[in-house]
Amino acid sequence: MPNNDVTKWVITSGWPYVNAMPHLGNMIGSVLSSDVFARFCRLKGDVVVFVSGSDSHGTPVAVAAKKQNIPTKDLAIKNHKKIKELFEKWQISYDNYTITHNPTHIEFVQKFYLDVQKNGYVFEKESKTLYCEHDKLFLPDRFVEGICPHCKDENARGDQCDKCQKLLTPLELKKARCAICGNTPVLRKTKHWYLDIPKLHDKLKNLISQNEIIPQNARQMCLNNLNEGIPERAITRDLEWGIPAPFEGANNKSIYVWFEAVLGYVSAVKEWADNIVKDPSKFEYFWNDPNTKTVYFIGKDNIIFHLIIFPGLLLAFNENKNDGEKLTLPYNVSSTEFLNYENDKFSKSRGIGIWIDEALKLAPLDYWRFSLVYNRPETSDTSFLWSEFENNIKTLNDNIGNFIHRTLTFIDKQFNGVVPKKLEYDDTDKKFIELINNISFEIGESISKFKLRKALRDIVNFGKEGNVYLNNKAPWHLIKKDKNAAGHVFNICAQAVYAFGVLLSPFIPGTSEKIFSYLNIPMENDLKWDTINENSVKDGQKIKSPKPLFQKLDINELKNNLQKNRENKDKLGGKELVSYEEFKKLDIRVALIESVERVPKADKLYKLSIALGDEKRTLVAGLAEQYKADELKGKKIVILANLEPRKLRGILSEGMLLAAVDGDVVSVLTTDKEITSGAKIE
Ligand SMILES: [Zn+2]
Ligand SMILES: [Zn+2]
Repeated sequence: MPNNDVTKWVITSGWPYVNAMPHLGNMIGSVLSSDVFARFCRLKGDVVVFVSGSDSHGTPVAVAAKKQNIPTKDLAIKNHKKIKELFEKWQISYDNYTITHNPTHIEFVQKFYLDVQKNGYVFEKESKTLYCEHDKLFLPDRFVEGICPHCKDENARGDQCDKCQKLLTPLELKKARCAICGNTPVLRKTKHWYLDIPKLHDKLKNLISQNEIIPQNARQMCLNNLNEGIPERAITRDLEWGIPAPFEGANNKSIYVWFEAVLGYVSAVKEWADNIVKDPSKFEYFWNDPNTKTVYFIGKDNIIFHLIIFPGLLLAFNENKNDGEKLTLPYNVSSTEFLNYENDKFSKSRGIGIWIDEALKLAPLDYWRFSLVYNRPETSDTSFLWSEFENNIKTLNDNIGNFIHRTLTFIDKQFNGVVPKKLEYDDTDKKFIELINNISFEIGESISKFKLRKALRDIVNFGKEGNVYLNNKAPWHLIKKDKNAAGHVFNICAQAVYAFGVLLSPFIPGTSEKIFSYLNIPMENDLKWDTINENSVKDGQKIKSPKPLFQKLDINELKNNLQKNRENKDKLGGKELVSYEEFKKLDIRVALIESVERVPKADKLYKLSIALGDEKRTLVAGLAEQYKADELKGKKIVILANLEPRKLRGILSEGMLLAAVDGDVVSVLTTDKEITSGAKIE
């Protein structure tokens, strides 16, 4: 059903490598920025699908798995789950955060390349490839390092020079060395399948010159690259880990990771349509409609891949296809410059930077989200500075937190929590009201142009205006002689509080939720960007007692905590410490199993009736494959007695049995000496 009234978006962010924990720079560079934009579009009433995922077929994860002696797939999926969980904690509102190692993607990529081949954009060529005799490995691009032929930087990689951003092939590097062992590789013959990029030059040039949305600097970078001529590039490589190349005769070769991860933008929507919303037509609805706007949030080092290689692939795929089958071409990329850390580059090995798991342990999420967008590197590289973090939160609190808190506390205390009536506007009122009525349009304009930093700074300025208004009106004096006049001021301020609730929602959704809960306005489904006006909050609205929204940060304490957390992590080989207080919360006790029954239709479960002294309880335990019922009956076991009760197969399980597990071996814990049931374990 074509519906021309709605704007459709496919919003995406660059795919993080599955073997590296993202840091704050990655967060603002792509993930958080895309989330702000996606949340904004949804609030505007646009139709959005927001996807990304972990790039799992990189070589580093294969190498790491080799070192740990585990299957690469297992390590990739384990890391992916961790990253996905962290993005959820960061409240990144992906509709689908997937991983490139999934059946939908693999099948999609293989079909895609067969079509590209059919359309005449793939050719085979024997070539000499660098081979490391020490590691017995053909070296994929990123595993060759050397001197950049363009800018002479000594640490250029075989796919791209980070210094001058030029795309490279390993053989172009001077003094090439193996990135694993540092030895000089040798040349060996191998056959590969290539993408005929030169054949796409004119089409790409047209595409990029005609796109008026992409930022000027990105456009120029692409045109320069095209003018210099982008060489054909191998799509396949000699590596086991990856998507098997579908071309005839390409046994034991996989698709080069760069040439499949970008296709994840397409396949992730397919996976979402098929498996999450279970409406396969949703895929065509988004990807096969030329009016759909696809936007890619990426760091500046990814511009060429997203504006040349990816659209080149789409053009090659689309040829000889009907309109309804063509995949839509990129609408825009929003690329950021780099975020550094205290004026230095993020470096895990040197411990320079903050990683997204660490950040959450140090300060509330919204402080990070706010501060990162507030300093988003939109036009030049910026640095995360601790002093700036402190100042940003102070700015947030002084201008917005205090305004909201003053307004709500006054209504709560002086008007019994009921929003008072408005009177007639005077000139000061009119000025502020005009601001309120226009603010969503103004901020929306900035976000639509991907100027997230400006948008957030303008919201802060709106807070400044709110405080100026409040101070000019001084309702705390007014109330002594004219309560209605003071009420009038707070009615208007309540409209501004509502405005903050909406405006902040894409940026710091948790804070926005708090604001609406204080205003006592349910926001789940009907919150809309354009609902801000002078009458958003009705008089007579009963609000709730507010608490201050933000606290001052003690930067020295945060820095110390970061240090301490890292030391503790090192001690435990990566495991987190728990305090004694945390441990003390666990009520672990000895229990006697009085009877054992099977749970119908559950092969693994037993229903245990247990006694803790005089107290009788029911427990559901997954032991039926390891223990016979009569082996358990009469046994004294150890249980966690104060676990929240939960229903398993309709049976309320009141606690959890403790057992040692090693692969398939499961051994129930018991006590060394005879002891009464109910005894506490300390
Ligand atoms: Zn260079
Ligand atoms: Zn080597």
